[in-house]
Amino acid sequence: MKVVLDGLPPEGRVVEGGIDELWLVEAVRQAIGVKPRGTAVKLHVNREGSERFCVTGSVSVDWKATCDRCVRLLRSSLEGPVRLMYQRGSLPTEEDLELAEGDLDIGWIQGGSLDLSDVVSEQIALWMPDRIRCGDARVSRLDPSDTGPCVLPKQQDGPPLKRNSAFSALANWKPSH
Ligand SMILES: [Zn+2]
Repeated sequence: MKVVLDGLPPEGRVVEGGIDELWLVEAVRQAIGVKPRGTAVKLHVNREGSERFCVTGSVSVDWKATCDRCVRLLRSSLEGPVRLMYQRGSLPTEEDLELAEGDLDIGWIQGGSLDLSDVVSEQIALWMPDRIRCGDARVSRLDPSDTGPCVLPKQQDGPPLKRNSAFSALANWKPSH
């Protein structure tokens, strides 16, 4: 979803989308690696200077994840406010970066438009946790009646632990308590 920057009206431009918008679903998939179950954005693109643009608004997404410890299916979600700055022009030189001290979180764009797909992917990537486990904030089990402990699957329940198996690292695993 590209927003043309030249001729952006003084009030900026608002783009809203939901799970039925292909560009949005693809942008979210780029960041989380799977197709989302739900997503919604409201983004407002404003000019903040001659070549500087600000994107504010909100993004939310929820998706089906797998616990990184017990491999149960989970429902995970992220949502929050967006405030990302973009500077248009050629890539900054070191001198520019010194001048822009404090503005190092600015994204650089080239060309006549800002791609909101990139903005959405970037924002979700910034929020993404390194791993997802039962009991994490904004995480719930897909089967809410399953109250079993979140532990590594027992080896006798899993596939045979052959050498070179993807599960062979589990063969030497011992509980830490
Ligand atoms: Zn778990």
